[in-house]
Amino acid sequence: MQVEFVGAVGGDVTGSRHLVHTEHSSILLDCGLFQGRRSESNERNRELGFRAKDVDVVVLSHAHIDHSGALPRLYRQGFRGPIYCTPATRDLCAAMLEDSAQIQAQDATYINRKIERNGAAMEPVQPLYDQDDVVGTLELMVSIPYHMTRRIAPGVMLTYYDAGHVLGSAMVALDVDVVGQRRRVVFSGDLGRRHMPILRDPEIPTGASCLLLESTYGDRIHDPIERMDDELADVITRTVARGGKAIVPTFALERAQEVIYALKRLRSQGRLPEVPVYVDSPLTVKLTDVFRIHPDCFDAQARALLLSGDSPFDFDGLRYVSAVEDSKAIDRSDQPAVVIAASGMCEFGRVVHHLAAGIENRNNSVIIVGYQAQHTLGRRLVEQRPRVRIFGIERERRAEVAVLDGFSAHADRNDLLEYAEAVREAGPLRHVALVHGEGPSRNALKTLLEERGFPSVITPSRGDMLEI
Ligand SMILES: [Zn+2]
Repeated sequence: MQVEFVGAVGGDVTGSRHLVHTEHSSILLDCGLFQGRRSESNERNRELGFRAKDVDVVVLSHAHIDHSGALPRLYRQGFRGPIYCTPATRDLCAAMLEDSAQIQAQDATYINRKIERNGAAMEPVQPLYDQDDVVGTLELMVSIPYHMTRRIAPGVMLTYYDAGHVLGSAMVALDVDVVGQRRRVVFSGDLGRRHMPILRDPEIPTGASCLLLESTYGDRIHDPIERMDDELADVITRTVARGGKAIVPTFALERAQEVIYALKRLRSQGRLPEVPVYVDSPLTVKLTDVFRIHPDCFDAQARALLLSGDSPFDFDGLRYVSAVEDSKAIDRSDQPAVVIAASGMCEFGRVVHHLAAGIENRNNSVIIVGYQAQHTLGRRLVEQRPRVRIFGIERERRAEVAVLDGFSAHADRNDLLEYAEAVREAGPLRHVALVHGEGPSRNALKTLLEERGFPSVITPSRGDMLEI
């Protein structure tokens, strides 16, 4: 058996794609979109790094676009096999992939029109897939709940474990017969943190002989989860005192719901200024509805709140915005407000319009609550650059940029180490492959694991093979 590393390796954090080749079949773990510089993203998402017809089965870890977003591209290239995922991941993907196709269509129209009108120095854009490809992809999805073992290919059994990262997120355990012997490959997917609101804590799969471990924050320690409410309250309070708006770019999935739940707690404690809170993202509205029908994925506290007739996702002063006109009205108003909008890395969606309208106003603030990949607008904001380019126009960045680490849905260095050690204690672990991390982060984690006596820790590049 071999693992072929196709994407989210070699220092990349997005575009998660790994192939497990057994004697009889090829199983694709995740099929995510690469997100980064436009031209490079385009190239790396158009050609997936393998032939669709060589893949027999897809196993999806969770619904984030950097793990699921290239599935319709795979479908378009002719893949017609089953795509396994948890029930909540399937429901989330229905909304997320539809949104992804829509963004691509809008983006292409916008840029191509710009080129036509004023000869903007940009490459013309063709969407990677359309809504028909999304529907075709959804038709291939087969839901498997956590802990329910299924045969997915000759000599290959699949079991999902709770990863505690986003709703429905899973670690993948593949039990593969290799000449009469069982080998268990575990793919962490994105690993969550313990004690996050809403979700249950990550589990520890037993019996792993090979672990594909994410390493997004392999060199960082997050602020404690308990402090994030205080930091959020502080930055919103000082922004409102200046008469400004607080713009919160969020992933529509999970981060938005975590922020909404945190704002609800603050409002009930009287710590959130009495200003309107807008969730300006039609996708977030849809995804929040998926959360409402999946209490099966909640921790005890969130379930109790739901059962009491209250919801973690509603409070006085909170408005979900869908219509474009209502979205534009937020920017026209000079009243202080909190605006939660997607996308999380500020590359697409309504948040870009809010940033274009608000970035030059020193009263405003941008509150970063999620990971920002290299070469994205979000990353340039985190770097506190004095000037940023939005919609092709250079703008002064006068708004305050506050980076709140506590909201991360990813394990930090200590969580990753503890997890790897627990997996080693629970099985005959022989190989660890670090994926889904930028160079310094992966290397730091590699060193730490080697110091702790892990036998074979690799940091694969694109196209590398690991023999198991
Ligand atoms: Zn994720």
